[in-house]
Amino acid sequence: MKLVVQVKLLPTPEQAAALEATLRVCNRAATHVASVAFDTGVKDRNGLQKLLYTDIKATFGLSAQPAVRVVKKVVDAYAALAAQARAGLLGKATSKRYRRAMSSPVSFRPEAAQPFDDRCLSWQQDVRDRVRLRRDQRGTLSSWPFHQLGRHLAYKARQTGVAFLEVDAAHTSQRCPRCGHTEKANRPAREHFRCRRCGLAGPADVVAGVNVRDRARSAWVFVTMPVPATAAQPEAKGRCDP
Ligand SMILES: [Zn+2]
Repeated sequence: MKLVVQVKLLPTPEQAAALEATLRVCNRAATHVASVAFDTGVKDRNGLQKLLYTDIKATFGLSAQPAVRVVKKVVDAYAALAAQARAGLLGKATSKRYRRAMSSPVSFRPEAAQPFDDRCLSWQQDVRDRVRLRRDQRGTLSSWPFHQLGRHLAYKARQTGVAFLEVDAAHTSQRCPRCGHTEKANRPAREHFRCRRCGLAGPADVVAGVNVRDRARSAWVFVTMPVPATAAQPEAKGRCDP
């Protein structure tokens, strides 16, 4: 089973700078490859790769995967240009526009898009240990590895047909599941929970687990809420299984 997951990267300032620097290097390399392709007339992937692969890696310090991607980007750009010309989108072969497009190498803006794939990006990096951030930023940062964990869980759950819900974990370790009283002091020690209002006590992780379960149950009500009568399937009528 193949799952396509759209993810949003939440890089630290340092990581963002590194990504941007890599992007700029990739585009400089692509512009270089494009000019060699223009001069030599070699515009196919194998030919260019044979000609320039080692150079790209040595001169621009790119690793194997981005180097291959850079070549592909140039090949695609020339293919797109040729297709435009064939379709007459650049005007007649004698027109100013056509000649200007064809008389110089393709070039790439410093921040032109560059494909990254799972061989270029690592999902294993745990950034929490390395950077201290303001308190209000920590939630975002620490959600990175948990986001990854969530993806794995969602994937496994889907494979086995088990419902998967994500709930907001805020205050689940401070809230009393019996009376709802929420206070930091409900956790006199890391391992212990003791409600200051009603006295409910127990291991902190178990209490937090109960809170998470309760939140999932409330959320589940909305997930399984019957669709309005107008949109309901006729054959669903009269069925009462959950
Ligand atoms: Zn309580």
